[in-house]
Amino acid sequence: MKYKVMLLPGDGIGPEVVDAAVKVMEVVGKKFDITFEYDNGLIGGCSYEKYQNPLTDETLNKAYNSDFVLLGAVGGYQWDNLPQHLKPEAALLKIRKSLGLYNNIRPAKVFNSMLDSSSLKPEILKGTDIVILRELTGDLYFGEPRGYDDEKGWNTMIYHKFEVERIAHQAFQIAKMRSQKVCSVDKANVLETSQFWRKIVIDVAKQYPDVELSHMYVDNAAMQIVRNPKQFDVILTQNMFGDILSDIAAMITGSLGMLPSASLGEKYALYEPVHGSAPDIAGKGIANPIATILSVGMAFAYSMKVKEAENLINNAIDKVLERNYRTPDIYNENEGHKLVNTEEMTNLIISEISRS
Ligand code: NAD
Repeated sequence: MKYKVMLLPGDGIGPEVVDAAVKVMEVVGKKFDITFEYDNGLIGGCSYEKYQNPLTDETLNKAYNSDFVLLGAVGGYQWDNLPQHLKPEAALLKIRKSLGLYNNIRPAKVFNSMLDSSSLKPEILKGTDIVILRELTGDLYFGEPRGYDDEKGWNTMIYHKFEVERIAHQAFQIAKMRSQKVCSVDKANVLETSQFWRKIVIDVAKQYPDVELSHMYVDNAAMQIVRNPKQFDVILTQNMFGDILSDIAAMITGSLGMLPSASLGEKYALYEPVHGSAPDIAGKGIANPIATILSVGMAFAYSMKVKEAENLINNAIDKVLERNYRTPDIYNENEGHKLVNTEEMTNLIISEISRS
């Protein structure tokens, strides 16, 4: 198989971590007879510097022609005072919207070797492996009417049938690749939008008899993620609730430099680390590449449908961490960690993959 990949490294540490992730992708690809054809583009501040536009139509067209996009990060202090539509972050919203990426997937997997880095007790965390599917293009964030005046502020919580159906299908399909459980999170005890959401999810579930569907109110879900995260496998939820729950779930895993994400639509897919461009460490060669390497793992699972490749990457990372190698962001001298830079961490992961 051959895949067309659009690389959008962006600003700050973006190019450093994308570079590392592409090296890993090549090595893993070879193991599974997959090759890649790359296209490159500018996004964010670097694009603004060259074109006075954080995302040009030409770059967007290249993304339309790819099987998936691998993005680094955008942003930097020097562009903070630009008008909103020229800011690097505007490019992110534009590409997500243009590619119709309605399904934001954030896994919260706890590596055994990182159990001590979380604020939760290791015995509660051990074995946690959650995937949160957050609907990304509907709900309060896009509903009309919206606004405020001197007396009141208002937003509209709205979901159309097709919006709930398409993300529910994705949740059940992803659950089939995992442990066959979907928990749909809503606020159906109070909100009509959530009652509608629940009804549609139940209808879609009939097409997936092997997958167990449960429902939970969002306030309870927030508590349960912290109390007993292992009870969850796939969490499916509305935009608003997913915004909050995905951050709670992310933090139980410990570090920003280790969190990948995928944003999927009907036709396009984009993979990126959750972290930003980290201008404070850009150019020093010390960025943690793991979030971006895990994002490549997600690309293998979701765009290339080779779940074993994702497992291979995850296991290699776990082994390197078990051997106590750490980039500075996750390094602790008192724990006997061995300090490595971006390139060394990447090479260690590649060696583990090659050995498997
Ligand atoms: P940030 O994620 O860039 O950095 C926060 C802290 O975490 C910094 O100390 C940084 O050094 C550290 N960090 C982040 N990723 C790391 C990694 N891979 N390895 C080691 N350390 C890492 O967030 P910020 O400082 O709030 O934002 C910096 C810029 O990034 C801003 O312009 C912001 O708008 C932008 N941003 C972009 C995205 C994105 O592209 N998706 C996301 C968040 C922030």
